Amino acid sequence: MAEAPGNENPLGYDEDFVNRVEDDFLCEICHLPLRDPLQAKCGHRFCKGCLEEHFRRLENDGQPSTCPVDRDALDRDKPDVFADKAVERQILFFVIKCPCDGCQWTGRLRNKEDHIGTCLKYPVTCPNSCGLSIPRELMPSHTKDDCPHTMLSCPYVMMGCETKIQRKQMENHLQSATTVHLDLACLKLRDTEVKFKETQNKLNETQDLTRQLMENFATLQNLFIEKVLKDKKKVLERENGTFLWVIHDFNEVFKQSKAGIKQTVESVIPHTATYGYNLKVRVNSNGEGSGSNTHLSVFIVVTKGEYDAILTWPFKKKVQLTLIDQQEDEDKRENVSKLLNPERALTYFSRPKEKNLVCGLPKFITHERLNSRKYLVNDTLLIRVEIQEPRK
Ligand SMILES: [Zn+2]
Ligand SMILES: [Zn+2]
Ligand SMILES: [Zn+2]
Ligand SMILES: [Zn+2]
Ligand SMILES: [Zn+2]
Repeated sequence: MAEAPGNENPLGYDEDFVNRVEDDFLCEICHLPLRDPLQAKCGHRFCKGCLEEHFRRLENDGQPSTCPVDRDALDRDKPDVFADKAVERQILFFVIKCPCDGCQWTGRLRNKEDHIGTCLKYPVTCPNSCGLSIPRELMPSHTKDDCPHTMLSCPYVMMGCETKIQRKQMENHLQSATTVHLDLACLKLRDTEVKFKETQNKLNETQDLTRQLMENFATLQNLFIEKVLKDKKKVLERENGTFLWVIHDFNEVFKQSKAGIKQTVESVIPHTATYGYNLKVRVNSNGEGSGSNTHLSVFIVVTKGEYDAILTWPFKKKVQLTLIDQQEDEDKRENVSKLLNPERALTYFSRPKEKNLVCGLPKFITHERLNSRKYLVNDTLLIRVEIQEPRK
């Protein structure tokens, strides 16, 4: 195809200039703003392309080169015609509008190409060579959704069909490959079934394991609760500065004491902000010192505690120790109650460095009396400990 002459010898700028262009900047041949302006020695200006085309025509007719306006002879070998750089610069600074429909851009002529390179309204041709030319902003959706040349994966790719073809051929592929697709689908289904069964088996195993773990956990929990309950019995129950010590399995305690296996049982009085002191009550059921083998002895001892540094020493609070008579009838109860006064043996109650000596009542109660009445019920002994604030 022969090229249009206009392409070889472009005319002046056919742009939409924002302001009217002065006559001085127009080509004398095409009457458009000058492109690559040349000035003849006569002062007339032309686009480079326009003047070259004019000279060629004259030459073809066997005529000498002349100015088309005033017919002055122009010798092309002499500098009768020269580039007008000043005018060119000025024209490139003129402001134009974007030629594309819907684009609001205006800018200098010299920036036109840059703008066109990014103008969203500028028509571009489809990169898939389908022949379509549409505004740049519409091209992505064309190639994605419409272009018949876009390469697509077969929709049965999940089933294993790896075919990739142009959109326009997809319909054909779907029709011709029906059997293949069906076979693939069957295989896939079988495969999935096997995997599903495997997963189910694993799940069952996990469930069994979980059940086992839950059972183990429940057992542990029960053991823990039992232990906590047991431990709790050892701790004195406290109420308003009065502590109740419950000694279970007393016969066993007594037997062990008598045999010398475990002579004493002890209980800690949990220190409080009020009492602060760390006290222990100790019972030797087979007696100790003057009460040995005949009495149950009760002692107290001050042990190290975390508040010791701020407490007053020696410990001077009187301690009332009471063995409870567990008669049903309140009026018939005969508690055994004795008062321990530290003032009488202050050396036992100084601030403990390691462990203080015990101080107490070796003849708290005779074995004989202990086994009378109802001091012992259900093999359980109750001892009440009251710490008395000194009178002020
Ligand atoms: Zn021209
Ligand atoms: Zn001229
Ligand atoms: Zn534009
Ligand atoms: Zn296309
Ligand atoms: Zn396919």
